Amino acid sequence: MYCPICFQNTLKIRSNGVIKLAFNGKARNTSLFTYNLQKETQEQLLLKLREKVEDFMKFYGDFANKEVIKKVEVYSGDFQCVNDCKIDLLATKVSVVNLIFAPADVRQILSEESKKYGIDVNASFT
Ligand SMILES: [Zn+2]
Repeated sequence: MYCPICFQNTLKIRSNGVIKLAFNGKARNTSLFTYNLQKETQEQLLLKLREKVEDFMKFYGDFANKEVIKKVEVYSGDFQCVNDCKIDLLATKVSVVNLIFAPADVRQILSEESKKYGIDVNASFT
């Protein structure tokens, strides 16, 4: 991945940090979870992702005017550049789909959890 500072292909995800979620640009304060790539299995991480997706769908399911969810972001700022560039962790938003999670797994979780609460999802990942 390209570093936003030195523009070299030197950006790497940190072995642990925080993953955040947004749906049509909306997120709950709780739409985030920690990850540790050295200690957690893919199954454990997918379970955390599912819990947070369900948490949002449950909350959004109570809205009177529900829009179709067209944009889902699963991202992190916990990246480092091998050139030691100073990465702004709060401003940096890099998708972890294709990096930590397979798109098919994310799509399946979104589809299953949204159906439970009557929400339509036709999402692209960014
Ligand atoms: Zn850099």
